[in-house]
Amino acid sequence: MKRDTASRMLARARRLRAKLVGWRRHLHMYPEPSMEEHETAAFVVERLREIGVEKVMPGVGKTGVVGLVRGQRSKTVGLRADMDALELEEESNVPYRSRRAGLMHGCGHDAHVACLLGAAAILHEMRDRLPGGVKLVFQPGEEGAGGARYMIEDGVLARPKLRAIAALHVAMDTEAGKIGIRRGYDTAQTEDVRMVVRGKAAHAARPDQGVDSIAVASQALVAVQQFIARHTNLVDRKLVTFGVIRGGTRANVLADKVEVVGTIRSLEPEGRAAITKFLTRDLRKLVGAMGARLWVRIEKDGYPPLVNDDRVVDVVEETARAMVGGGNVAEVAQPNLGGEDFAYFGLAGVPAAMFRLGIRDERKGFTSAGHSSTFDMDDRRVLPIGAAMLAAVAVRMLEGV
Ligand SMILES: [Zn+2]
Ligand SMILES: [Zn+2]
Repeated sequence: MKRDTASRMLARARRLRAKLVGWRRHLHMYPEPSMEEHETAAFVVERLREIGVEKVMPGVGKTGVVGLVRGQRSKTVGLRADMDALELEEESNVPYRSRRAGLMHGCGHDAHVACLLGAAAILHEMRDRLPGGVKLVFQPGEEGAGGARYMIEDGVLARPKLRAIAALHVAMDTEAGKIGIRRGYDTAQTEDVRMVVRGKAAHAARPDQGVDSIAVASQALVAVQQFIARHTNLVDRKLVTFGVIRGGTRANVLADKVEVVGTIRSLEPEGRAAITKFLTRDLRKLVGAMGARLWVRIEKDGYPPLVNDDRVVDVVEETARAMVGGGNVAEVAQPNLGGEDFAYFGLAGVPAAMFRLGIRDERKGFTSAGHSSTFDMDDRRVLPIGAAMLAAVAVRMLEGV
């Protein structure tokens, strides 16, 4: 991408600043949970029609919306934004704070939608010169519901078939003004695990007459961490975190049952297989040796790992260098062990990559991590960059991935 093309697109996005900020703040005030993005979807449909996007299709993947900017040739690429918010109480006094108790755009998906609407406006204006079509994919249910799958089932990657697809995610560990890129593994395979340790109740003063399931569960949980630390390849990142533990009724009775619920995060299939084998087979022996029984279930509907396609990352990197300058393109050093259902698009066979839109700004006090109750960003500064990047990446993908 030529530097002047990129800076023209950024200048255009900056003229859209008031709209971008208005869109994001409206969505921020009215967050909706996963797969219930009805008002958000209606808002997107209205804005796309206002912009003049020719083809607008609501109800793709339940509450998803697809827009199509037709270009001068038949090939088509995609851009994706997720739309859902989190069950989280916002703790902030900004005028655009959430108006809905217990719901908050704490992951920045409001910004993603605003950036994609901005990209739609830029691409629509240049449709006479656009070397192909751009499908605008507004996806529901990223935060655990796997909304990407519903859109794929409804044919979002076909009719017209996508040659490649890109998405952005705001990132608090990348400085505002910078674009973060990552090759290969980007986010983890996620799986939930549920375990029940069954012992036998007895008087607390006679543990020998029962089986203390709390003591056995404690040992089992330590064993899981030790297994990962001592028996798996740590260069391949992975972890198990137990976020729930329940058991027992009173201080002087041996608990007969302990239930724990956790999440497994892995990158390479070998690491995942090792953890699965330990949890479902070997751990049982350890629990059995203590006289208790173990029941384990690994829920299979977690997200696959996101693996960014090198060719799409090349396009993003080249575009970012032209737009924000080489000094503002940051290599994301490590994959993160969060989950991201954008992975499904790549898994379905379309070259796909996600890049980071930096939002960290210490001077202005924007440092709260994603999924925290004080998460926010300098939207006036970052949204134009996000919108211009998406539009430019689409054009560059059309020129050849
Ligand atoms: Zn999130
Ligand atoms: Zn997110």
